[in-house]
Amino acid sequence: MAKEGILLVLSGPSGAGKGTICQELLRTYPGLNYSISATTRKARVGEQHGVNYWFVSHEEFQKMIKDDELLEWAEVYGNFYGTPCRQVKEMLKNGKDIVLEIDAQGATQIKKKFPQGVFVYIAPPSLDELANRIHKRGTDTLEVIKNRLSCANSELSYVHNYNYVVVNDEVQEATKKVAAIITAEKCQVTRNCNIVKDILSNVNK
Ligand code: 5GP
Repeated sequence: MAKEGILLVLSGPSGAGKGTICQELLRTYPGLNYSISATTRKARVGEQHGVNYWFVSHEEFQKMIKDDELLEWAEVYGNFYGTPCRQVKEMLKNGKDIVLEIDAQGATQIKKKFPQGVFVYIAPPSLDELANRIHKRGTDTLEVIKNRLSCANSELSYVHNYNYVVVNDEVQEATKKVAAIITAEKCQVTRNCNIVKDILSNVNK
């Protein structure tokens, strides 16, 4: 039976850079897969259905909740977001590693169902830098930006629910740190229970 894959959960306030780190990890970390969330938010310019998100209506989202198709879901900044179960469960069972980029409420729900997950909080170097990044990104209206910044304080307090915190001063460095965390987690003895049996069974090969 394949060894269960790593479930990596990345969270952090909007503008901390978790999306960029996630993309860099997917580009550079061998065999890592992305869990595409469902959302009721409207697609931003350049975003694609089935690539960035599954963009669904409120009715469709409610149906997914009712049919128990979501591993977790939350209302974030006035829109609904959720992680479809099937892909995540299948990948983990087949030994594939998967990354979820979700908010802290969702991470709390995942932790209850998958305590063996690896929970990494991406923090900004400062609140000023966070504000700079959200403004520079230029994808949101002023009202949305204000809302996101006002949530940042309370979001930072969730850091204690995570196993690791990585301050994103510089994307490449932060990505390397998250990659090192995944690699270290893969070497945990508890994830390698059959290691002695495997070594011994290879003696005469
Ligand atoms: P954005 O609208 O900027 O793409 O995402 C807004 C927030 O929703 C981010 O904090 C992001 O991590 C979070 N998010 C994205 N997908 C999910 C999901 O499936 N579940 C939860 N709980 N949060 C999500």
